[in-house]
Amino acid sequence: MAIQLFVPTFDVEGCLNEIRECLEKGWTGMGFKTIEFEEMWKDYTGLRNAHYLNSATVGLNLAFEIMKEEYEWFDDDEVITTPLTFVSTNHAILLAKLNPVFADIDDTLCLDPESVEKLITSKTRAILYVGMGGNTGEYIKIVKICEKYGLKLVLDAAHMAGTRLNGEIPGKEAEVVNYSFQAVKNLPTADSGMICFKRNDFDIIARKKAWLGISKDTYARTEPVGSYKWKYDVEYVGNKYHGNSIMAAIALTQLKRLDYDNAYRKQISQWYRDGLKAYGDKIKFIRIPYGCESSCHLFQIMVEDRDGLMEYLNKHDIFPGVHYVENTQYKMYSYAEGTCPKASYASDHILTLPIHMRLKYEDIQMVIKRIVEFISN
Ligand SMILES: *Cc1c(COP(=O)(O)O)cnc(C)c1O
Repeated sequence: MAIQLFVPTFDVEGCLNEIRECLEKGWTGMGFKTIEFEEMWKDYTGLRNAHYLNSATVGLNLAFEIMKEEYEWFDDDEVITTPLTFVSTNHAILLAKLNPVFADIDDTLCLDPESVEKLITSKTRAILYVGMGGNTGEYIKIVKICEKYGLKLVLDAAHMAGTRLNGEIPGKEAEVVNYSFQAVKNLPTADSGMICFKRNDFDIIARKKAWLGISKDTYARTEPVGSYKWKYDVEYVGNKYHGNSIMAAIALTQLKRLDYDNAYRKQISQWYRDGLKAYGDKIKFIRIPYGCESSCHLFQIMVEDRDGLMEYLNKHDIFPGVHYVENTQYKMYSYAEGTCPKASYASDHILTLPIHMRLKYEDIQMVIKRIVEFISN
């Protein structure tokens, strides 16, 4: 049987029970389960605000749109960001007509604080930080840099559901944190995300903007208080970004098993490390700093001949991934090509090994065996 990179695993009965409640009640849209999940997420993370959206991508878009308007940033003001990420991250900056400035990564594959600090100018407004694979990297140093220079911190936590730093969910320091509950992330739904603003007033704006700029949510409008349900105001030009109760039904079921799932991901990572550590001259692991308990969304290695290894594994029915090709190799961001040598190196040498809940010890040993075969030749 083929060994795939990611296969989402659901508590099927649990999800169906929650979805059944929506269907029986006749409420599948925003409100009801979305509110229940927002409350559960705030409890779980300790973050002050949480608004459930239909993806993390729209959350990132909303984050920059709102910050730019509320802080009165100008077009072409700068956001320092990483080239090693999914394109949603950097598109959000461009969509807000801001300018992505690419800093290099370090051996955690997250932004290198030194590289970031060198790029700060009078036009810098924010730092967009990605916790690669669930790793916090040097997050605290980035927080300090933001404090020192008065910059806003945006945390793209798409990989970080369940990550702890010194025992706590990181993100309280950031202006806004965005989570993804896309199907292959650690808390899978089909597609959805959460935007968590530090400021309550920004959370309120986000709720309006995520639903066409309308100022009351549907659920509140159907409370039987004899009010004028059609009488809402429209305060902004918004988009339709909000989540729905069917997705939230899956999300709140899956949240109950997130820590358990992440513990098994950690076990898989440990099996890989144990099996491959004897080949340290040929296989490099990614550093996870002390105090970081990663969600282990990804298990990545770096090897000399990545493409060769990929081909060899594919031939043996093993399908790893690449996270990511550095964004500066794409046309959109080619103006910065060659400015981040460590990200370029990673882009060419990195490989993500299969990691998901259905993999057994024997599967991991098979992957290890094939990798060792390849690098020993
Ligand atoms: C998956 C991902 C996103 C986008 O998440 P969606 O919920 O699919 O929109 C953004 N950033 C990173 C780093 C991701 O991995």
